[in-house]
Amino acid sequence: EHIANQIAAGEVVERPASVIKELVENAIDAGSTRIDVAVEEGGLQLIRVTDNGAGIDGDDCETAFYRHATSKIANGRDLFQIRSLGFRGEALPSIAAVSKVECISSAEDTGLGRRIVIEGGSLKTNADTNTSRGTDFTVRELFYNTPARLKYMKTIQTELGHISDTMHRMALAHPQIAFTLRHNGNTLLQTLGNGDLLQVIAAIYGTSIAKSMIPIEGEQLDYSVKGYVCKPEQTRSNRNAISTVVNGRFIRNYALNQAVQQAYHTLLPINRFPLVVLHLEMHPSLVDVNVHPAKLEVRFSKELELCQFVQHTIAEVLQDQVL
Ligand code: ADP
Ligand code: MG
Repeated sequence: EHIANQIAAGEVVERPASVIKELVENAIDAGSTRIDVAVEEGGLQLIRVTDNGAGIDGDDCETAFYRHATSKIANGRDLFQIRSLGFRGEALPSIAAVSKVECISSAEDTGLGRRIVIEGGSLKTNADTNTSRGTDFTVRELFYNTPARLKYMKTIQTELGHISDTMHRMALAHPQIAFTLRHNGNTLLQTLGNGDLLQVIAAIYGTSIAKSMIPIEGEQLDYSVKGYVCKPEQTRSNRNAISTVVNGRFIRNYALNQAVQQAYHTLLPINRFPLVVLHLEMHPSLVDVNVHPAKLEVRFSKELELCQFVQHTIAEVLQDQVL
């Protein structure tokens, strides 16, 4: 069991940012409206994720760290209707196998909760404690017992870059959740959680860029899209400036990116990329999120149709700008 968890950890937990992704996704799945993330030394020393979500029942706290102890999928058919971000029940056991984890959680408003400490997969503490509703997760000394893996960690600045990217994706996908990210005590990201996507864009890219963005909205039989696109003259040299969110999940899809690029095609100088944030809604059966547990890549069952819809919606708005 220990070994299995360490092997699974190799899949799920690549670096500090992947721990944060898993913990924040759990917080989102728990219905949190506030999620605070604090890290030290690029997350290698400490990662703390605090949420105000549903919490974990005292009696379920320990089992949550067992493999495949997900509470999110009841039957096989659910797999095709996934709305929750997690569903494999692999994250907590994997993280706990390669770090020192402290989990304080309460699912009630009585002020009573549970505190669990697990180090390298071994349970050290499982005791009642006083805490408010929600979950407070601390991961210390990631990879302390897997030196080969630790050796592969990059500089603090590089790990922090990955963490920021992860938090930006979460915030862009969930404007209705207030996020903060702090590193060694400095606030790097703060969103209001008021549902305003433009506010999130301002928090990430700056107020003046956000002010110049154009809102878009479109709908057809299978798909609807909402979001913000930059003016053709305000494209960037950064390739990663196209963000796509499908049914509340930040995703990546090559063809969709190409479609966005295409919409700017005739207006765009070579080596410039648009800043675009899109929220797409579609029936869950039209998107396959099961390609890889820790990756953002997804497949669409009617890719061409989706791409044409997105491209046309953006192109139309840009056309209006030019006229
Ligand atoms: P998954 O998310 O795939 O279900 P995880 O290993 O990430 O698996 O989490 C295991 C279980 O622990 C979840 O199904 C959920 O019931 C519980 N859990 C984890 N984190 C939280 C949280 N922040 N708030 C409430 N429940 C949580
Ligand atoms: Mg999870």
